Order: sequence, then C-alpha cells, then structure tokens
Amino acid sequence: MQKSHSIVILIMVLLITAAAALPSYALMLVSRSMEVSVGKQVQQDVIRQYGGLSTDPIATQRVARIGRQVAAVSPRRDVTYTYQVLNSNIINAFAAPGGPVLITKRLVDMLTDSQLAFVLAHETGHIAAQHGRDAINRALLAQGIGSLLFGSSSSAITQGVNIMYTLYNRGYSRSQEYQADTYGVQIMAGAGYNQEAAIEALAKLGMQRTGGINRYLSTHPDVPDRINRVASLIGISQAREQQLIRQAQAQPGAR
Ligand SMILES: [Zn+2]
Repeated sequence: MQKSHSIVILIMVLLITAAAALPSYALMLVSRSMEVSVGKQVQQDVIRQYGGLSTDPIATQRVARIGRQVAAVSPRRDVTYTYQVLNSNIINAFAAPGGPVLITKRLVDMLTDSQLAFVLAHETGHIAAQHGRDAINRALLAQGIGSLLFGSSSSAITQGVNIMYTLYNRGYSRSQEYQADTYGVQIMAGAGYNQEAAIEALAKLGMQRTGGINRYLSTHPDVPDRINRVASLIGISQAREQQLIRQAQAQPGAR
C-alpha cells in the first residue's frame, strides 16, 4: 500500500518534470519566456536603482543606434535586445537575461562610438552566451526537483531576479568574461567597428577612480588580463597594445 502510493507520486513527479523541462534542452529548467520575464524585472529594478533613464537625447540616441548595429549581428537570434542609458554618474553596464542592456550616462560619455560598440557588444555577449539563464538554472538545479513545481510562476521569477543580483554583486566568472569578450570583438567587427577600440574601452574601464564611482571594476574584475587576452585574440603586438592603452587613457572623456 505504502509502496504503490510512493510509486504513483514518483510517476507524477516525473511527468511534471518532463513537462517543465520541455521548452528547452536536457538540463535547462529555465524556459526562454521565464528568462525574458526575469530580465524585464531586473531591467525595471536597475532603472529605478540608478535614478531612472537618462533624458539626454545625444547619449540615448548614440546607445540606441550602436545597440541596433550590435544586435543585428549577435549570434543569438531568439531574443529582442534593447539598449538603454541610466541617468547615473556611476560607471557601470549590465546585461539582464533575455535582451535588456543598460549602461550609465557617465560611461557612455567616456567612450567613443567604437569603444561604446565594444562595451555594448560585450554585454550582448553575456546574453548571447546565456550566462544569466545558466546561473538561474544552476541555482534551481541545486535546490532540487521541488523548484520545478514552480513552473513559470511569479515566485520562480522572483527567485531568478534574486539570483541575478547575487551574480551582479559577485561578478561573472573569469571564463564568462572571456567568453563575453570573444563575442564582443566578433560582434563589433561584424557591425563594422575597429576591434582595437576594445583595448581602448577596457583601458578606460580599468582606470581606478576615487569615491567608488567605478562600479564596473567590481562587477567585471580582471581588466588587465582581459586586455592582454583581447590583444592576442585580435592579433596586435604588445607594443601596439601599450600604445592604445596610453592613448585611450589620455583622451578627454577618459576621466
Ligand atoms: Zn562582462
């Protein structure tokens, strides 16, 4: 009696598991629609935390224009990318799962168009490589089969949003940053920008600033390593790399 009862429960759990896992591949529990829902919630929260969207027409139009060019050549085609400017003096950029990219006004104003193309392409790379979706998936798997029963309910989305904040605070792993950089230089070249600007953008982002305004450094560690790696990826010499770093850091918008 006990035994047959538990077999029925086991079969029910297996059926529910199969249904929940259907939209995606093997161990992916996070459907694309859940990924998009989490991303939209994160986008709204970040906009609020960073003082709303910028009303500066120049920054907004630059980011929208370059974002469109970058999105057009992203290897991931099943999401809608958006590129928005946060009304903030902090230096930072985010990728929310499933499409939204956010960048602060301060950072936009520091960068030339080609440098901006790399930063937007790098964030697009996090979305293309599904780093946020994977983080949520790993956390759900770690919590065991019970979390499957949430399906795409609002509590699952809240869980996903919280996992993204942990990820933003801790920063992506080094290998995820490298992967986003690889996508970044490929995407910017596809959009017609000079890849050397990737070195320049990283050089500016790696500058220490007082007052903790450079939050990009805490969410994106290892900038010097990333510069060296991008230099070898795009095939430029160490001498040229050093020259690009010096030039970028001396540009008027750098500080
Ligand atoms: Zn990154």
